[in-house]
Amino acid sequence: MIEMDSKNIHISEELLRDYSLEIISNAARARIDNHLQECDQCSAVLEGLKLAGEEVLHGEDFMADLKSRNLELIQQNKSAAANPNRLGSLLKVAAVILILVAASVAILLQRSPAAQDLVSQNLTQPYAAPPLERGENSLNENWQKGIEAYRSRNFESAVSFIQESYNQEANDEKEFYLGLSLLYQQNSEPEKAAVHFENLINTRYSEQALWYKILAYYLSGEVDSCKTSLEKIVSSKVHYKKKAAERLLKKLNP
Ligand SMILES: [Zn+2]
Repeated sequence: MIEMDSKNIHISEELLRDYSLEIISNAARARIDNHLQECDQCSAVLEGLKLAGEEVLHGEDFMADLKSRNLELIQQNKSAAANPNRLGSLLKVAAVILILVAASVAILLQRSPAAQDLVSQNLTQPYAAPPLERGENSLNENWQKGIEAYRSRNFESAVSFIQESYNQEANDEKEFYLGLSLLYQQNSEPEKAAVHFENLINTRYSEQALWYKILAYYLSGEVDSCKTSLEKIVSSKVHYKKKAAERLLKKLNP
């Protein structure tokens, strides 16, 4: 019922997860695309991973939703059973359900507690880097190097260059990227980062600063401050992270 791919071995769950999060190389993506076209099994696992990912975003509705999807498929199976020609597809659907549920449950168990995951998820993709400025200028040399380091995700190096540049001549942009780099670096320094974001609350970075201050508070274990700021976003009319704030607040106030 499930056609095995003779040319390639199956794609690991790990790799499929990276694929669904779009954090793999183009070459790997092309190889997986090809395999998925021929392999129902890996496609089903991918589907399960996507559903589990949705759960992280949308909360507890997921299990209910998954159940109703399965009920639908089971209903289809019952009507298919009346027709012997469709027995093959019945078995195929049953196998897909099993793989889908197994994969989703595995991910769900692995992804607890949920608030922590939401926060890490929001820090997976670094905030867009500022454009590189043209022209030689010793005054902005550290800033240029800082941006380059930030772009190549070398956040430790970004912290030291941007800090240096900030000490020479401070501005909001440097403050913002210094805060981000402190947050993203391997040995994250969320307390220091929060101070920089706090300084930006009444600047053109105010929305972003409030959001990243929340993530920094969470990582510092200051959950109460985190909730207070989340409530500020949730009760605001428009904020670019309003949806994400609502989700995180729901996880913190179960
Ligand atoms: Zn496969």
